[in-house]
Amino acid sequence: MRTHAYIGLGANLGDARQTLATAINTLRSSPQIFSLLEAPLYHSDPVDAQGPVFINTVVAIDTTLEPLALLELLQSIEQQHGRERPYQNAPRTLDLDLLLYGDLTINTPRLTVPHPRMHQRAFVLRPLQDLSPELQLTQGGLNALLVDCQDQKLERIK
Ligand code: ADP
Ligand code: MG
Repeated sequence: MRTHAYIGLGANLGDARQTLATAINTLRSSPQIFSLLEAPLYHSDPVDAQGPVFINTVVAIDTTLEPLALLELLQSIEQQHGRERPYQNAPRTLDLDLLLYGDLTINTPRLTVPHPRMHQRAFVLRPLQDLSPELQLTQGGLNALLVDCQDQKLERIK
């Protein structure tokens, strides 16, 4: 069965734009991922993180991967791009987060879905809105949630 899922992508080290493009191509060519749709790219200031400005986007996919298998794929792509985790919220070459997996709620040590902080992050909500304006999170609609993120600087770059 195919599930509609959303993945958040962010990078703020190295050639961030190229990194995101490569990561998206890897996802697109994965055998169990279908019909990948890309939101525009955004620049965002680091939130609870350090280092240079981030480039962020969101992709929507249909997938036959189970949630944990999808997380493992995301983490292996992070590894391919030299992701290190020296400390929490460290600058990163690539961060791939599973935002939503159909209507599923998952609360395990390795995986929390919906992603627990996505509703507070303009750099997730805006590209998500570009892809699916009518989407409702448990905390509310995307427009209403974005009003609460107005202090977060976000600039569309593509
Ligand atoms: P963050 O994205 O919060 O800055 P990391 O990318 O370093 O942090 O992820 C830390 C851990 O979060 C991962 O090892 C992963 O097991 C866990 N995790 C829990 N839920 C999710 C999710 N929905 N998407 C991605 N990782 C998740
Ligand atoms: Mg992450």
